[in-house]
Amino acid sequence: MKIARFLIAALLLAPAWAASLDEPTRRLSREILQELIEINTTDSVGSTTVAAEAMRKRLLAAGFAAEDVTVLGPNERKGNLVARLRGAHAGGPKPILIIAHLDVVEARRSDWTTDPFRLVEQDGFFYGRGTQDMKGADAIMVTTLMRFKREGYRPDRDIILALTADEEGGTFNGVDWLLKQHRDLVDADFALNPDSGGVTTQHGKALAVEVASAEKLYADFELKATNPGGHSSLPVADNAIYHVADALVRLERAVFPFELNAVTRAYFENLAKVESEQNAADMRGMLAQPPDPAAIARLGRVAQFNALVRTTCVATRLDAGHANNALPQSARAIVNCRILPGHSAEEVRVELVRILADPAVSVRHISDLTGEIADRAPLDKPSAPVTLRTDVLAPLERLAAQFWPGAPVVTDMETGASDSKYTNAAGIPSFGFSALAIDRDDVRAHGKDERLRVSSYYDGVDFYYQYLKALTGATAN
Ligand SMILES: [Zn+2]
Repeated sequence: MKIARFLIAALLLAPAWAASLDEPTRRLSREILQELIEINTTDSVGSTTVAAEAMRKRLLAAGFAAEDVTVLGPNERKGNLVARLRGAHAGGPKPILIIAHLDVVEARRSDWTTDPFRLVEQDGFFYGRGTQDMKGADAIMVTTLMRFKREGYRPDRDIILALTADEEGGTFNGVDWLLKQHRDLVDADFALNPDSGGVTTQHGKALAVEVASAEKLYADFELKATNPGGHSSLPVADNAIYHVADALVRLERAVFPFELNAVTRAYFENLAKVESEQNAADMRGMLAQPPDPAAIARLGRVAQFNALVRTTCVATRLDAGHANNALPQSARAIVNCRILPGHSAEEVRVELVRILADPAVSVRHISDLTGEIADRAPLDKPSAPVTLRTDVLAPLERLAAQFWPGAPVVTDMETGASDSKYTNAAGIPSFGFSALAIDRDDVRAHGKDERLRVSSYYDGVDFYYQYLKALTGATAN
């Protein structure tokens, strides 16, 4: 009975939204996607400025005022576009910021079946570097703002779109740069970042609608021991390699404290409804007050679950010594940490010193922006625990039920990091949702023959048009 009703609902809903994307919009959104894919925006030889200028031209043609669409950046090749669709009245709520990166990961023609910098439509897919990560979403946002402008739509607040440089690599991260140099241009109530989150499908069928609403903090540390060295025929107890090796063994055995926040708690509550019996029971045990240590330990054996409930640190590089027949004068290891929201890198550095328990091993912080090594790590707690906002999530849930019926909306914490780390750190709570459906065994971001299902792309175009309207005061039809 329940199944029958669900099927009927799906049949009734499907044509309604599928038909709402008219032919001119499809053509426009495809043209923009093609233009973006065919502009090389890699760090090595590409330019985000060229892509930003092309999008600026389109927005101006749609009726945006010149002062509302700016291309700016730290140098000629790393331009960022900031466009503002003005709200109906100046005194409305604070703006919504959308951040999306224009740069893509390198791609070699010889590795690919098609030219990575040509948009190729084949067998129901768009192929090209950036189709998934993330020129698909860039094109969706530009299309949406153009449609709003052309139809004279006035949101209840400003909508700001920032298309930026150097998310994938390079040293001129556009979001960081804009926040530091032109905060007034991008200041907002909250941010949407379509670089993370999205719809996970299997053979095209939606399984889950994932919204990334928290991120771990990235930090690298250098562990180092030094020694005068000497002839290897005369070993002494005080060997730099042994110091670092022993410290790493202690690190391997150390476990950072278990901790949940609003996002991971909600995530496990949802997951417990669909997981296998043992996992579901353990998740409920973990969520109980007080939490069940045995349940935490069992779940902790799954890397993905473990990474969600604690800070993790792992050795990633090692180098030591200078000759086969000499005692090492120095030994060095790099430890990469992924820190739970609400904790600073310095807190973790101090904790590492305690865990390693060897004054001969120094623990210093390596800046991921500049590579600089410092005795102390930053004290700020950029990604404070997030509060889930119903004003952001409720309209998303309502629309997701129409677009991807039957797939639950789950909020999730990214164990990696996206540009949301900069907006979150700047006090702009950020939510990741691409609106693009990707099969779980077809994630090709950064890889060869990157592709996006054509229907998934057009659904994304349609979704964001409706979602941004729902967020900015337009009543549902
Ligand atoms: Zn990306």
